[in-house]
Amino acid sequence: MYECLKAISEFFEFGYIYTYKGIDILVELQKGIRKEWWSNMASKPGILSDWPWKSMGNFKYALVVPGAIYSTYSFIMCKDENERNWFMFLVLPFLVFRLIHYQLWISYSRYRTAKGNNRILDKSIDFDQVDRERSWDDQIILNGILFYGAGIVLKDQFNMPFFKADGTLIILLLHWGPAEFLYYWLHRALHHHYLYARYHSHHHSSIVTEPNTSFVHPMAEVLAYYGLLLIPTLLSVYIGKANIVGVFTYVTVIDFLNNMGHCNFEFIPQWFYTIFPPLKYIVYNPSFHSLHHTQFRTNYTLFCPLYDYVYGTVDKSTDSVYENALKREAESPDVVHLSHLTTPDSIYHLPLGFPSLSSKPQVSKWYLLFMWPVTVWSMLLTWVLGHAFISERSAFKKLKLQAWVVPKYNMQYSSKWQRETISKLIEQAIRDADKKGAKGLSLGLLNQHEVFSRNVELYMKRNPQLKIKVVDGSSLAAAIVLNSIPKETTQVLLRGRVSKDVYVLVQALCQKGIKVLTVQEDEYKKLLKFDNKLQSNLFLSERYDTKVWLVGDGLTDKEQFKAPKGTIFIPFSIFPPKKVRKDCYYHTTPAMVAPASVENLHSCEDWLPRRAMSASRVAGIIHASEGFDVNECGGTIFSVDKVWEASLENGFRPLPIST
Ligand SMILES: [Zn+2]
Ligand SMILES: [Zn+2]
Repeated sequence: MYECLKAISEFFEFGYIYTYKGIDILVELQKGIRKEWWSNMASKPGILSDWPWKSMGNFKYALVVPGAIYSTYSFIMCKDENERNWFMFLVLPFLVFRLIHYQLWISYSRYRTAKGNNRILDKSIDFDQVDRERSWDDQIILNGILFYGAGIVLKDQFNMPFFKADGTLIILLLHWGPAEFLYYWLHRALHHHYLYARYHSHHHSSIVTEPNTSFVHPMAEVLAYYGLLLIPTLLSVYIGKANIVGVFTYVTVIDFLNNMGHCNFEFIPQWFYTIFPPLKYIVYNPSFHSLHHTQFRTNYTLFCPLYDYVYGTVDKSTDSVYENALKREAESPDVVHLSHLTTPDSIYHLPLGFPSLSSKPQVSKWYLLFMWPVTVWSMLLTWVLGHAFISERSAFKKLKLQAWVVPKYNMQYSSKWQRETISKLIEQAIRDADKKGAKGLSLGLLNQHEVFSRNVELYMKRNPQLKIKVVDGSSLAAAIVLNSIPKETTQVLLRGRVSKDVYVLVQALCQKGIKVLTVQEDEYKKLLKFDNKLQSNLFLSERYDTKVWLVGDGLTDKEQFKAPKGTIFIPFSIFPPKKVRKDCYYHTTPAMVAPASVENLHSCEDWLPRRAMSASRVAGIIHASEGFDVNECGGTIFSVDKVWEASLENGFRPLPIST
């Protein structure tokens, strides 16, 4: 707990901590005003904090299946048209709609906050936050259980007509009146240290919010909110005014405003308040609730700021934070990492996709097959999208970093017909990054393939006016492979397609006096063609009994089985080899672990572990940070030793070998 508060203290660069009745308190002293922030984590989790289906993982969705089967079966089997319960039948599609609604907010918010225009709070989020907010969909499952439960118990009352205009209006008025008022006081009570430490601090653990922060609370707190939000619905049922459109619209309005309040970018235009000034007191904006997450003891409102104005808890900086966010322009990156899509499913692994997937190394998931309509739709979208798009922003010291994605897949990169189109997309990305003032651009994944890297080299020569430098990271990749080889190694077996990086690697190995064995004659001849002097340490062999293998594209499963037990496979390829041996060790593709000074990392780069960055991405950062004013692409290669030393000096570390 102390560590957590210390981190918060450092985050804001002021404050101190003391313990009161067993609860850690961060005290802020600013301009003579003393504010207390109770411990950000639920230090004493209260009863009913955890959801009962916590251990079920994604199988928790099965909990709504009995209700869905029952209501669909009853709907189909019902012979009397007037008895048919449309409400119950539509609950399932409505729950799916709610999930899609949330996901659209998550994706769009990440896209907008990465671009930076109208961003409200300029701080980073981390993997802990993504993990904590993985439970954002629990309340939708609760919603399903409540609707199905109420529909089965109160059968007749929940067999409601499709639409009643007055009923819909009554539900919304009941919300903006009593429900908002009661929420305001419930929220203030939740900030009392007793409840804050046990429940509400969980929501406030996220200072920078994302849409999925909106309903991340301990279960007891969600039950209390649902109790409040059910008042308008149940009252409308009681007075006979409930209707399907009214109930579903009410929940959708709540979702929209809740996501909006946590999206961390401002988009409500000023004219919205100019045409009807009282709107300021009726509906909040994203900046309003963002301030509740940074200031803690102001702006308690759910959606209607009136009660904060009435009880004097509105934050003094509410208007200025809103106006500044509206004025904020898109961020100009210092370094751009240019990657691309790999498999059709890879869109879900992007930071703009599913946060829970993107925060873990990419592996194929069977359930993504059910997403095929969205997958096909996204593929059509990439087909028409004529430029790379931003997917992530981060920072290293004073450098602003962005990741851009070329909207093409592996299969298109391997097609000769697409080469010209892809080269044009890469060139356009270089031009765009240069126009935005970026110092460097690193070529990720197949953008660094020799075909495209050579094209970039020619393009940079043809356009000397470009200030940006392009790096494919081959020297750092060679350095990483070289330094991954165990110290006592005297010989390595090299197997894989020969390229410029492999030649650099073999040259460095020979200089170190390490024997390099190749098993394929064409690879051996190709390497000698690069440099005949390699002959002294490079040998053509028929034996596979070497225990350190440097592997690239073209390594077969059959060959892997020829390796002795305990062999270390160190890839120099862009993609990792298929792991077919359980008794051997596989290293990751050339990558390094980012130091703590790289901020806002909350997604994994392709298959790499958390906080690991590919060699080319690290090289782009290091070249810009150190001011290496050179291109490294095509036939050009930078100094292996210099880039390695600079990476270590900047805090990047090699990855340990995993089994
Ligand atoms: Zn609060
Ligand atoms: Zn909130």
